[in-house]
Amino acid sequence: MISSIIFISLLIILGIFSFKRYRQIYQNIQLGMPWSPSNQLKDRIKNTILIALGQKKMFSRPIPAIFHLFIYLAFIFTQIELIEILIDGIFNSHRFIFHLAEGSFAASIYIGLINFIEILSVSAFVATLVFLSRRNLLKLPRLNMKELTGWPAKDANIILIAEIYLISCIFIMNSADLALQDPANSQYHFLLSSLLVPFWNGISFHTIEIFERIGWWGHVIGIFGFIAYLPYSKHLHIILAFPNAFFSNDDAKGKINYMPQIFNEIQSMMDPSFASNSDGSEMKFGAKDVQDLTWKNLLDAYSCTECGRCTSSCPANQTGKLLSPRKIMMDTRDRLEEVGINIQENGSFVPDNKSLIHDYISVEELRACTTCNACVEECPVNISPLDIIVQLRRNLIMEESNSPQEWNMMFGNIETNGAPWKFSPTERGNWANK
Ligand code: SF4
Ligand code: SF4
Repeated sequence: MISSIIFISLLIILGIFSFKRYRQIYQNIQLGMPWSPSNQLKDRIKNTILIALGQKKMFSRPIPAIFHLFIYLAFIFTQIELIEILIDGIFNSHRFIFHLAEGSFAASIYIGLINFIEILSVSAFVATLVFLSRRNLLKLPRLNMKELTGWPAKDANIILIAEIYLISCIFIMNSADLALQDPANSQYHFLLSSLLVPFWNGISFHTIEIFERIGWWGHVIGIFGFIAYLPYSKHLHIILAFPNAFFSNDDAKGKINYMPQIFNEIQSMMDPSFASNSDGSEMKFGAKDVQDLTWKNLLDAYSCTECGRCTSSCPANQTGKLLSPRKIMMDTRDRLEEVGINIQENGSFVPDNKSLIHDYISVEELRACTTCNACVEECPVNISPLDIIVQLRRNLIMEESNSPQEWNMMFGNIETNGAPWKFSPTERGNWANK
C-alpha cells in the first residue's frame, strides 16, 4: 500500500513537472515566424519513417550507427517493459502481465520479449561503454570541440552513465527475481540474467528479496529521473527527431528561398497600386534574433543531437575558420531559452539589449559560411544550420549594412550594372566582337 502511494505520488510529480517543461518548449518554438513545408504529406510520413524511425542518415557512418542502433532499440523495447513496471507500481503487484498470461502462449511471448530486452540491454551496455570511451578516452575531435566544453560535455556523460545505471538495475532485478524462484518449479527463465544467479548463492532469501526491490525501485527512479531530465538535455532529440523529420524540407539543397520583403519592394516599384507592406508593420530583412527565425528553425535548435557531423564536414571549419554549424544550432537554442525565460518572468518579451547576432553568433562566423550545404546533407535528423545562417547574414547586410568592402563593390555593381562586374550592361556583348 505504502509502496503504491509512493509510486503514484512520484508519477504525479513527474507528470506535472514534465508537462510544464514541455509546454515551455512548445511555447518557445511558437515564438518563431510562420512557416509551412512545401512537400506532400506522404513524403513527410516517408521522411519520418526513414530518417527518425529508421535512422537512415546515421548509416553514412556505419560503425557509430550500429552502436547507436543498439541503444535506440534497447530504449524502444524497454518501453514495453515499462508498461508492466507502471502497472506493478500502481497496484503493488509483481510481474502483473506475466501472471495474467501465465499458462497460455502469451506467457511464452512475454518471456521471449524479456529475453530479447536483456540481449538488447547488454548490446546497449557495450555501446554505451564505447561511446563513453571515444568521448573521454579517445577524445574524438568532433566530440571535444570548444562549444562542447562545460555543460554539453557533462550532459552527454550524464545520460551515458544513466544508461549504464538503468541496465545494471534491470539485471539486479531480474537475476534476484530468478534466484528467489523455486528451482524445481520455476515460472520463467531469462537467459542472460540466469548467468548472474550464482552470484546470489549463499545470500539469504530475505536479502535477495531486498536486492530485487532495490533493482526494481532503482530502475523506476532512474526512468523517472531520465524522463524529467530529458527536456533539459540534448537527448530531447529522442522525441523531437520525429516531428523534425516530419516537417523537414525536401527542396533541392541548392535552393535558397527568396525574401517576400524584396519581392514586395520590387512589385511595388513596378506597380504602384501594389501595397508592399499592407499591414503597416515594420519591415524587417532577415533575422536578428530568434523571434525573427521560423518556428521550424527553432524546432531544429531543440532537435539538435550535438553530434557534430555537420561541423566535421563543414569546409569552413575544416580550414580553421571560426564557424561551426553545430554551435549555430546550440547558440540558437540557448538564446531561445533565454528569451523564453524573459517572457515567462515578464509576461511579454522585455528587450534585454541582446540578440542572436553579435551576442551569441559573431559576424566572423556568419561570413565564413560558403553555403555549400554539407552540414544539411550530413545531419542525421535533417536540420538545416544553413537556413539560420542565411537569415542572419541577410539581416547583417540589409539591416546593418555590415559586409566586407569587397562585397559592397559587388553589391554596387549588381545595383548599377545588373551583374557583379564593373562593366556597363551595354558593354556586355563586346567579347563577341573580338
Ligand atoms: S553550408 Fe556553411 S555551415 Fe554548412 S557546411 Fe557549408 S560552409 Fe559549413
Ligand atoms: S545540426 Fe545535425 S549534424 Fe549538426 S550537431 Fe546537430 S544533429 Fe548533429
